[in-house]
Amino acid sequence: MIELDKDINDLKILISEQQIQEKAKELALKIDSVFPQNETVYLICVLKGSVMFFTELSKHIKHNIQMEFIRISSYGHETKSSQNMQAIDLTLPNLNDKNVLIVEDIIDTGLTARFLTDMFKIKHQPKKLIFVSLLNKKCARQIDIEPDLYGFEIDDKFVVGYGLDYKGFFRNLPYIGYFPN
Ligand code: 5GP
Repeated sequence: MIELDKDINDLKILISEQQIQEKAKELALKIDSVFPQNETVYLICVLKGSVMFFTELSKHIKHNIQMEFIRISSYGHETKSSQNMQAIDLTLPNLNDKNVLIVEDIIDTGLTARFLTDMFKIKHQPKKLIFVSLLNKKCARQIDIEPDLYGFEIDDKFVVGYGLDYKGFFRNLPYIGYFPN
């Protein structure tokens, strides 16, 4: 059994639910403006962390969409990126010549983003590929990569909530928070 060694009462809110909802609407407008009108967009949810942002964002996108889900794990139960990314399920339909939007929760070292964009370009050759992330820890980057769009830039602290977990917990919080040291 996994022990939870953090107390939710110690959690500090960094980004509120309302801020996230407003940002999702703003990002959806931008997303609608970058993809060709009247064409289907394939939204790729990178499980598990981006599940909440993915659903919130998708509600505001005006294009016809298809939803697809892939699963990658990079943290295990640690609070630092392991560098050992595990592709758990990359099953996708043929996305050659399709409009693709990859939806991530957070870009930290950038390794997952690099892996995903390379994988899509090589394996799928989409017509248009856009990468959106709710959070961007620019200061933690280990390789030179930036998302096309992101919601909030944050400091190099480990955050939970709105899909993001600590040892599998706290994904259900409707806001982003952190545990001060
Ligand atoms: P990267 O490959 O950019 O280092 O890490 C990307 C993945 O690491 C994210 O999709 C997310 O699952 C996890 N991650 C990075 N920073 C955090 C964080 O502050 N909190 C949590 N819960 N996960 C994080």
